[in-house]
Amino acid sequence: MNTTIVEYTDEKPPLNNYPSRIVSPTKGKACCARNMEQIGGVQGEEKRSYFYRRCRVCGYTVRHFIPTPPPDRPSGSWEDETSRLLKMVA
Ligand SMILES: [Zn+2]
Repeated sequence: MNTTIVEYTDEKPPLNNYPSRIVSPTKGKACCARNMEQIGGVQGEEKRSYFYRRCRVCGYTVRHFIPTPPPDRPSGSWEDETSRLLKMVA
């Protein structure tokens, strides 16, 4: 079941009644790039996790999906990669 709480419309003023309802403009604007903030916690939808991000200025809201890492990824690889990059720039 797709239970999005966001209503996209340009007919009504933006509204933040999270977690029950959010009214968002249908399109983002230039202000959104710098003013998006996370609303609420991370939600799960089947295998995809996401949270809502909303622009403080115009109210434009999107669902931000979080990529889930592969479960069998060897631990420590990220650190190895970072120290390698640090050596390159040192
Ligand atoms: Zn905006």
